[in-house]
Amino acid sequence: MVVEITSTIHVSNRCSLKRKCAYCGFAAGSSPAGYYKSFVKTEDEILKAALSMEFAGIKRVSISAGYGNFSAVLKAVQIVKEKTGLEVLVNVGGDINEEELELLKSAGVETVCCNLETVNRELFERLKPDDSFEKRLKVCELVKEFGLKLSSGLLLGIGESEKDRKEHIKLLKSLEVDEVPVMGFRPYPGTPMESVPPAPLTLQLRVIERVREVVDSCKRITVPYPTVGKEGVIPAVRSGANNVATVVPENYPLTVKGVGSPQVGILEELLNLFDSFGIETNVERERLPL
Ligand code: SF4
Repeated sequence: MVVEITSTIHVSNRCSLKRKCAYCGFAAGSSPAGYYKSFVKTEDEILKAALSMEFAGIKRVSISAGYGNFSAVLKAVQIVKEKTGLEVLVNVGGDINEEELELLKSAGVETVCCNLETVNRELFERLKPDDSFEKRLKVCELVKEFGLKLSSGLLLGIGESEKDRKEHIKLLKSLEVDEVPVMGFRPYPGTPMESVPPAPLTLQLRVIERVREVVDSCKRITVPYPTVGKEGVIPAVRSGANNVATVVPENYPLTVKGVGSPQVGILEELLNLFDSFGIETNVERERLPL
């Protein structure tokens, strides 16, 4: 198996949801260990970030932002698609409508990610009081209707039951998802969930195996590095994950903090790790200078 690497550009950490999600350390003001200060990346910053990853041999980037940033995200997509050959995933949660999906499709986006996080409605409403499960589900359906690839994942260890996880995996199967991020919760200091223990790696591995068995449409099982950590990457791949996300090259020009925890994967370190286990990646190591 060849493991894919997906890099990341966080366009903005502004989020228009008034009450932030209880686990969020990404949005401005949510956690002193996260970005904390509000930002919107400039066009030049986005271009430099995209070129640095392409130069390092990475082939795919996730472009994401909090709610209320569609124009900035679209602009970032246009820059990346014009200036690089990177494949693009966009993640703006449930904050997207049909017209915006059309614009992303026209701009050349391959995948749209809308994580449901949990199918337990009571839990969803408690942890994401200003978000809407139904809206997110609708976005997932629309992404497929538009002929785009759908990425939709589970956030594990936030209080969901085994039954919730099983139902969630069944729902992902019925949505015919193309990619499933399997994310283990990690507490961000300063957030309402700072004292909740992190999800055990064993749970994450079990769910990866289950998704692999059940969701036959799924071509990518993704582990975002910040939610699995260095110790979890190899076991995750051995359990069936074939895409590691939130990985940046050593010389990445922007400050970057993971969405699930402040740490991100450093490409060169990960490649050494994979080499030591004889695991191949899709990173093009012999790229010519641009
Ligand atoms: S998790 Fe996403 S939607 Fe929720 S508050 Fe954070 S940035 Fe906003």
